[in-house]
Amino acid sequence: MLWQKDLPGANVVIRGARVLDPAEGIDARLEVRIDDGTIAEVAERVDANEHRVVEAEGLVLAPAFVDPHVHLRTPGREDEETLASGTAAAAAGGYCAILAMPNTDPVVDSAATLGALVDAARREAEVPVGFLAAITRGQRGEELTEMGELADTGAVAFSDDGVPVASAGLMRRALQYASSTDRALALHCEEPTLSRGGHVHEGRVAAELGFAGYPSVAESVAVERDLALAGYERGRVHVLHLSAAASVEALRRAREAGVAASGEATPHHLVLTDDAVRSLDPNVKMNPPLRAEQDRLTLLDALRDGTIEAIATDHAPHAAHEKDVPFEAAPFGVTGLETALAALYTHLVGPGLLSLETLLERMSAGPARIFGLERPRVAAGACANLVLLDLEREWTVGEQPFRSRSGNSWLLGSTLTGAVQMTLAGGKVAFE
Ligand SMILES: [Zn+2]
Ligand SMILES: [Zn+2]
Repeated sequence: MLWQKDLPGANVVIRGARVLDPAEGIDARLEVRIDDGTIAEVAERVDANEHRVVEAEGLVLAPAFVDPHVHLRTPGREDEETLASGTAAAAAGGYCAILAMPNTDPVVDSAATLGALVDAARREAEVPVGFLAAITRGQRGEELTEMGELADTGAVAFSDDGVPVASAGLMRRALQYASSTDRALALHCEEPTLSRGGHVHEGRVAAELGFAGYPSVAESVAVERDLALAGYERGRVHVLHLSAAASVEALRRAREAGVAASGEATPHHLVLTDDAVRSLDPNVKMNPPLRAEQDRLTLLDALRDGTIEAIATDHAPHAAHEKDVPFEAAPFGVTGLETALAALYTHLVGPGLLSLETLLERMSAGPARIFGLERPRVAAGACANLVLLDLEREWTVGEQPFRSRSGNSWLLGSTLTGAVQMTLAGGKVAFE
């Protein structure tokens, strides 16, 4: 279900690192030998043979990250991102696999469009990439796509992300058809009659600035509806970019009731609140919007206790000329692949709000589990999907050019702690 360029597998020995794989229960100083892209040995001392030796004293070696929510803008807006640039950005961010959303031009709603992307990924992708296909034709919310055919062509899951599926009746049928393909629906939950015209979270900051509000309830009523339908149809749903406390509580209740539901949160919703909007920086404008402190704290609690199993960047590149306009005119969306680890390490792990182990689990094993992907792990016999982290290095976002074609980062100019030193993805050295 994942594709990347055909390159030779790495022959590498990594020495001196603290190996940290929470899902495998490993936290020790160990050496790792990789033969032709496969982890051959994890031990206190391994033979280097003829391999390249990476001295990793003072660094952390962990399973590389999986991003279940990326916009690669291809086909249609290759000026904003391509398969090559987006996957290079992913590699630089420590990701060994990403999933791409289908809201491109044309929309990925046919086997022909999906098949062309799969072929292109085999030629161009720097890390393994999987594609979601649309739930409805053209993402117009009117008729379902041919989910069976799309699954056979390699669709990892289905999503109309960017827009909600407004009709409950159509959502119900989508759950029925998706079940027969054994694929989840990844849902952008937004009730458009409540959010329409809103630029920022409906609250004090919106009132002060005179912006039309996009209330929390626009998300949470849609989450409640879709979880109720998923429970009724025994379907599998994944709630994208949770932002509101009431949505998180709905997900928690549904999971306790046995609904096959998962959820993700983004670094920006975990770190920022609508206070950031006072800057009027178009790079803090995204959908769903940044919310209140209580919402952020609820997301963080749910991330800690596992109600939210995955961190997703919702990497959404935009051309500079489109974002470089007044706040109200700017499109929604920010980039995130190259800054996620450092942003979360700096703002959550550093101050003691989240353990490093939980952060690593939610960026890797969690999303892999949700979408049925091979879990990146530090174990003999596993494909080398590894990231080497320097958690002491400070760097300033934007000082080095992004690998992404777009620079609409909410962190431009920020100094962060924690850097990706090397990424092995699909057995190959994808970044160093
Ligand atoms: Zn969305
Ligand atoms: Zn998105």
